[in-house]
This record gives sequence, C-alpha cells and structure tokens, in this order.
Amino acid sequence: MSETGKVALVIGGSRGIGRAIVNRLARSGFDIWLSYHNNHMAAQETCAAVEAVGRNCRLLAFDLASREATRSALEPLLQTCCPDVLVFNAGIARDNLLAFMTDEEWDAVLRTDLDGFFNVTKPVIFEMIRRKSGRVVVISSLSGQVGQAGQVNYSAAKAGLIGAARALAREVGRKHIFVNVVSPGVIETEMTAELPKDQVLPLIPLHRYGTSDEVAAVVQFLCAEPAMYVHGQVIGVNGGMAI
Ligand code: NDP
Repeated sequence: MSETGKVALVIGGSRGIGRAIVNRLARSGFDIWLSYHNNHMAAQETCAAVEAVGRNCRLLAFDLASREATRSALEPLLQTCCPDVLVFNAGIARDNLLAFMTDEEWDAVLRTDLDGFFNVTKPVIFEMIRRKSGRVVVISSLSGQVGQAGQVNYSAAKAGLIGAARALAREVGRKHIFVNVVSPGVIETEMTAELPKDQVLPLIPLHRYGTSDEVAAVVQFLCAEPAMYVHGQVIGVNGGMAI
C-alpha cells in the first residue's frame, strides 16, 4: 500500500502517539507536515526519521490554542497544497478534581484539545471540500467516552471531539471526505508515566498498557485503506477497558 505523492498533516506529531502515526504514514509513502508546540528537539528527531525513509517532512511550530497563530501557520501552506490526510492528535491533560480545578486548568485543556480542533480543521476541511476528497482522523480518549474522575476538563474536551467529528462526518461524507475518531485507552507515553501501574493494570482485560504504534496502526488503516466504508465511527484502542 503506497501513498507516494500524498501529504499528511499530523497535528501534535513530534512525540508519543503522534510520532508513531508520523512514522507509520511516512513508511506508507506520505510526505508529512508535522505540527507541534515548542519541543523542537523531539520534532527534529521525528522529522529525521521521516527523511530516513525517503519522505519529505515540513515542521510547523505553533500553539494551536491560538486561532491567530494557527491561521498564520496553516493558511500560507494551504494556498499551495491541500493535505490528503489530517490527523488531529495534539492534546494536553491538567488533571484535578472538579471541586479544586483552577480556571487555568479548565481553560488550558478546553482551549488546546477542543478549540484547537476547530482552529486547525476549519481551514483544512474548506480545502478538502473544494477538492472533494480527504481523510480526517481525530484522536479522542476513553475518558471522553466513559468519563474519568479527576479529568472533568479532559473528558469534556475529548467527548466534545467525538461529537464534533460525528457531526462533521455527516456534513462532508458526500464530498468523499472520511471522518473517524480513534479513542485510545491507557497508552505507554509521557502522559501516562506517572499513573500507578499496579492500580491501573487490573482494569485492563489485556493486562498491559497499549503502545503508540498500536494506536498508529489503526490511524494508518483509516488514512490509507483504499476500500473504506468506515465513516463517522469511534474506534477504541483500549485493551478491552470499555467493552
Ligand atoms: P504527548 O504529550 O506525548 O504529545 C502531545 C503532542 O501534542 C506533542 O506533539 C505536542 O507538541 C502537541 N501539543 C500539545 N499542546 C500543543 C499546543 N498547544 N499546540 C500545538 N501542539 C501541541 O501526548 P500523547 O502521545 O500521550 O497523546 C497524544 C494524543 O492522544 C492526545 O490527544 C491525548 O489526549 C490522546 N490520548 C493519549 C492517551 C495516553 O495514554 N497517552 C490515552 C488517550 C488519549 P510538543 O512536543 O511541542 O509539546
């Protein structure tokens, strides 16, 4: 399966799950537009891995919580080319019980995880509609499906992404634009490094954390499978945590 000549815009592609997605898409032939916030070293490492498999990688450093910064970064590029694939993977967590949650914790997560989706996807989907083709994959979370104590902000944002993606799928399906959600459970990344593993593992029927590559494999399928009838779906990658 080769996607040579196609471009994938991966939002939050510098490390963790995003890096695994970038690596998979590059290996299947996509050139990569890799967006990240400010971890330049991680982004450059991921970029080097893309170039090592013979694909092009363009780095885009901007804060997607800022509408202005997102527009300034994306609009000039979109005038030259429309990406074939958009993966919205960026996200942050600022966990606290709601009774103690600060305004900053609520705002940071909603601005980044949910507003960021609007800031990025609106200009990209406009170009995909004009071209009448595209694939959009949104990375949500099991927390957005079932709710997680200590994550009212994060669960709200991730549930919001599911609603947004489902509605968008209804808007653009006729334009041959596929929109789906991938919803990871607990994945071995920096985000989950502090979790008490002895308490979490008994909740997972497969009794292990997932890997970034296991999430990326599902994203790759949704981005590159030529015979696709999967649209507007939420696909869990959670080791059976939600059945
Ligand atoms: P990481 O923290 O490892 O990576 C987050 C990525 O998002 C980085 O590329 C980061 O850029 C980028 N990013 C964060 N904030 C901004 C911002 N304001 N502007 C632009 N880019 C930003 O995350 P994970 O790999 O762990 O998670 C990836 C996605 O999967 C997230 O949406 C997360 O919510 C979701 N998820 C993760 C789970 C897990 O167990 N890890 C479980 C369920 C869902 P930079 O490197 O510059 O900081």
